[in-house]
Amino acid sequence: MAKLKILEFPDPRLRKKASPVDAVDDALRQLIGDMFETMYAAPGIGLAATQVDVHKRLLVTDVSPDKTEPHVLINPEILEKDGVALTDEGCLSVPGYYEEVERAGHIRVRFLDRAGEPQEMEVEGLLAVCIQHEMDHLEGKLFVDYLSEAKRQRIRKKLEKDRRQAAIVM
Ligand code: ZN
Repeated sequence: MAKLKILEFPDPRLRKKASPVDAVDDALRQLIGDMFETMYAAPGIGLAATQVDVHKRLLVTDVSPDKTEPHVLINPEILEKDGVALTDEGCLSVPGYYEEVERAGHIRVRFLDRAGEPQEMEVEGLLAVCIQHEMDHLEGKLFVDYLSEAKRQRIRKKLEKDRRQAAIVM
């Protein structure tokens, strides 16, 4: 397995819309393994393929405190959503920022698992929020898009400044 580079806001590649996965093969399973390694090392509780510059409809999550509940969702599709969850969200592609976002509190989602088998699950709470956050990435959408334009620009400027400073450290 290998750790992958995570794209950071405002990288335009984060705005690409992902295409459906057409074959769940060994190459895809290798990518899934690398995505888990990258997510756990970061550390984060979810990662979409878009964030590692692979524009396929694939995401991984593990919201458990002890990294024992990995989920792989390929070509995920939300069938039902209801309720409201307000969560302070962060994102590996927007490091250091946490803002409250409103999403559905409960979802039913259909997807292919890592064997390529169709699955459906009903989830609520943090896992439901995380899946919705990662599915946004597949559409080229970031959690900062839910914030005001002024706030988003502030975050963008700060992250660009941080990167410029990081760039001159030798
Ligand atoms: Zn994210």
